[in-house]
Amino acid sequence: MSGEGSSTNGNKKVALITGITGQDGSYLAEFLIKKGYEVHGILRRSSSFNTGRIQHLYGQPACHTGGQMHLHYGDLTDTTCLISIINKIRPKEIYNLGAQSHVKVSFELSEYTAQVDALGTLRLLEAVRTAGLEKETKIYQASTSELYGKVVEVPQTEKTPFYPRSPYACAKLYGYWIVINYREAYGMFACNGLLFNHESPRRGENFVTRKITRGVAKIQLGLMKHLELGNLDCKRDWGHAKDYVEAMWLMLQQEEPEDFVVATGEAHSVREFVEKAFSYVGRKVIWRGEGENETGHDADTDELLVKVNAKYFRPTEVDLLLGDPSKAKQKLGWKPRVTFEQLVKDMVEADLQLMKKNPEA
Ligand code: NDP
Ligand code: GDP
Repeated sequence: MSGEGSSTNGNKKVALITGITGQDGSYLAEFLIKKGYEVHGILRRSSSFNTGRIQHLYGQPACHTGGQMHLHYGDLTDTTCLISIINKIRPKEIYNLGAQSHVKVSFELSEYTAQVDALGTLRLLEAVRTAGLEKETKIYQASTSELYGKVVEVPQTEKTPFYPRSPYACAKLYGYWIVINYREAYGMFACNGLLFNHESPRRGENFVTRKITRGVAKIQLGLMKHLELGNLDCKRDWGHAKDYVEAMWLMLQQEEPEDFVVATGEAHSVREFVEKAFSYVGRKVIWRGEGENETGHDADTDELLVKVNAKYFRPTEVDLLLGDPSKAKQKLGWKPRVTFEQLVKDMVEADLQLMKKNPEA
């Protein structure tokens, strides 16, 4: 695996992506390959294949070989492997996207989340120093709007103080600050992308947007009776992952390392996402009851479509995230292309196709 196409390759820029098998990693790998990069990625060992999102980037997908992507077994909890991979490929750019990325799960896996999301970031920075690349390698850190948590101002900018509300956000807070500390202490080109929620048909199945679009597709095809959700009233600034990976790359093309908010500047509630998603299959949702007893029904047939289940509530919730991307617009020339309506439509259509092909998906 790690033997494929190692080291630098002529004038090609070499990039390393941790979390290449995730939603963002897969879009970023595509983006960098199109730009002519030699792309390397860290692959976690798993008892089943975890390369579904990047399968198409192999030269021969059927046998997982070839192509312009080079995978190395590794893990952000394993210092030795990080040093050895970075020493071997000597990347010009590193994108640290690997993480235990689920907020609700972080309440149950708090220590592991800190190991990967906080200390994993430190391990990566130290591996770059150990390889003597602190003045050559640029590093992107996947920071998050979850740092704002119980927000102290609306909208949130690069200057808004943080108030993390989960073990995930607390771990990412360490990642954020250690990146700034290494930048200031050792002159490393390392920056934080404060990315607000971004979604796509490749979003993990247990994040709320994907859970909704999968549910809508399954209900529409008669594969599921109704959808169970938690808090319907929290609001998020949802963009499309494809747009957001471009911002990551732009941050590393600047003269100076800086931190940037990446957001759409529009917030919508989970309830609105549900209504919009059902509208694409021609159904209007009407709501009844309150809190744990709230349900959503088809306005024409009264069929139950959505039920609140308290098991999806979080011990501490983030009620509203709304980003101000002015700095990214001005300094990076970045702007989101996909609207909220297009995002929901794209995800519903993709899940309808997926469930038609494979009802078990
Ligand atoms: P995903 O959950 O889709 O992907 C996470 C990736 O990290 C996967 O490739 C996963 O591997 C890998 N990973 C998990 N644990 C480890 C580990 N111990 N060592 C190495 N790799 C590991 O996340 P996204 O693509 O959505 O997000 C990318 C990054 O951006 C994450 O750091 C996330 O926290 C952050 N972020 C995401 C936002 C969003 O809205 N999507 C918003 C703001 C920040 P495997 O496939 O094997 O599980
Ligand atoms: P997050 O912003 O990183 O936590 O992304 P999620 O997609 O996991 O959650 C976004 C919001 O949707 C949070 O405020 C959740 O409480 C809310 N939510 C409501 N129901 C659900 C659900 O069933 N699953 C998830 N994951 N979130 C839900």
